[in-house]
Amino acid sequence: IGTLYIVATPIGNFDDISQRAIQTLSEVDLIAAEDTRHTGKLLSHFNIKAKTFALHDHNEKQKAQQIVDWLEQGMNIALVSDAGTPLISDPGYAVVNLCREQGAHVTPVPGACAAITAVCCSGLPTDRFQFIGFTPAKSKARQTFFIEAVNSGITSIMYESTHRIMASLDDLEAALGSDQPVVFAKELTKTFETFFNGSVAELKQFLTNDPTKQRGEIVLMLPGKAKQSDDIPEDARRMLGLLEAEMP
Ligand code: SAM
Repeated sequence: IGTLYIVATPIGNFDDISQRAIQTLSEVDLIAAEDTRHTGKLLSHFNIKAKTFALHDHNEKQKAQQIVDWLEQGMNIALVSDAGTPLISDPGYAVVNLCREQGAHVTPVPGACAAITAVCCSGLPTDRFQFIGFTPAKSKARQTFFIEAVNSGITSIMYESTHRIMASLDDLEAALGSDQPVVFAKELTKTFETFFNGSVAELKQFLTNDPTKQRGEIVLMLPGKAKQSDDIPEDARRMLGLLEAEMP
């Protein structure tokens, strides 16, 4: 029986590829790539000759069974996305889920992931955090998304697209006020890597002063709101209820 390798690739700087990733991509029978042309550039940079086929959001469900069948026939397959760790806001879930269901062998070849890369350098608490994917496309949904993120009480990490960043920050400000702290990280591991820590109003100013900073790949992070000291614990609330019932 073959193995499906979930191989992380760099998020910008090709030097971040691991020895195991190079070795695995060189040795497998097939590489399932989100975009074969994009992955072709990475492979040719490392002089890796391999057969690739496209596995993207639109064909993943149909291809999943085919991949499991190939693994059962003894083929070794690597799954990569355009950048970073597959399945993290990228294709691969349907395939891995079916592999697990049908007992096929899946193993990771870990590496870069923008969310983890960003939060490590953000200055926000990293003892507990949540990754919540891309911000929603619609304004109202985005505001709810930001409020829920902050109310979780832990650090939230999210992906943002370059054409939506200013609209998203307007929604963040509308939902949580202009003093809401936020961390902005863009173009991680690349030439124009930028971090900005400040209030949402300050971040908007920063990006308006230099609109080139709005371009590129962006991670946003929000600190969790500390629990209010007047928040009454559940058992105390129950006790109060009992006492209230006894009061005249
Ligand atoms: N699977 C990838 C990973 O492990 O990070 C994420 C893929 S998702 C389709 C692409 C988004 O990830 C971008 O829109 C951006 O929000 C974030 N991203 C990817 N590379 C990045 C980088 N070098 N700097 C900042 N954000 C990045």
